[in-house]
Amino acid sequence: MSFRASFITLYPEAFPGPLGVSILDRAREDGLWSLDLVELRDFGLGKHRQVDEKPAGGGAGLVLRPDVAAAAIDSLPKDNRPIIYPSPRGVPFSQEIAQNWTSGEGIVFFCGRFEGLDERVIEARNMIEVSLGDYVLAGGEVAAMAMLEATLRLMPGVAGNHASVEDESFSGGLLEYPQYTLPRLWEGRETPSVLTSGDHKRVDEWRNQQSKALTKARRPDLWAAFPHGPELRASETDDEHD
Ligand code: SAM
Repeated sequence: MSFRASFITLYPEAFPGPLGVSILDRAREDGLWSLDLVELRDFGLGKHRQVDEKPAGGGAGLVLRPDVAAAAIDSLPKDNRPIIYPSPRGVPFSQEIAQNWTSGEGIVFFCGRFEGLDERVIEARNMIEVSLGDYVLAGGEVAAMAMLEATLRLMPGVAGNHASVEDESFSGGLLEYPQYTLPRLWEGRETPSVLTSGDHKRVDEWRNQQSKALTKARRPDLWAAFPHGPELRASETDDEHD
């Protein structure tokens, strides 16, 4: 069964954007996933199809109305897909969440705008708030597309070489090792000789060690959570970082 992504948005012209190129476009043509858009404005009220109102209690900006948002959500067929509201207040998005989403039927994304969505519809439609990071975007479209892209590329058959998504940052709890290609000498900088030695065991060991060193240096949070990471002797990760 194909994975179905629905986006509720005020800006359908933002789609498919980056979802319409390269491996994701090919996967859509191959029927691995589908995309449909629900235009929030179609459910707006009155002559001007109004979707927003001033915040109760005063303050800056406008808030999306719960009745309009609910009508848009309810126009979709009832199924088991989670309704995701991309929001800076949500749980931080991660590779683990993306991996979990791949086993479902798909996702409904409600793309917020203005000051966001009336709290009551978030509760009434069991929406799950998920954040792309600790900053504020103008709307949920970019966040929703980023989350979907991260999810789709983990699905079997989407990335041409599935090994490439199994062996990359976050998959094993570590950041990826540094990558090199031709030419071997560029602006006086040489590709590490181990990578051109043809010795696959040494290459694997070098990459593993580099991943650990990078993770330890750049992401102490990941390193602390990596099984046995903090207990590894410092010498195992410090010396060969460069
Ligand atoms: N007033 C809101 C707040 O302070 O939490 C921010 C509203 S923002 C201008 C408009 C919309 O952009 C939000 O409703 C949400 O859908 C989306 N958005 C903004 N930042 C986001 C983030 N870091 N992650 C996911 N979605 C985000």
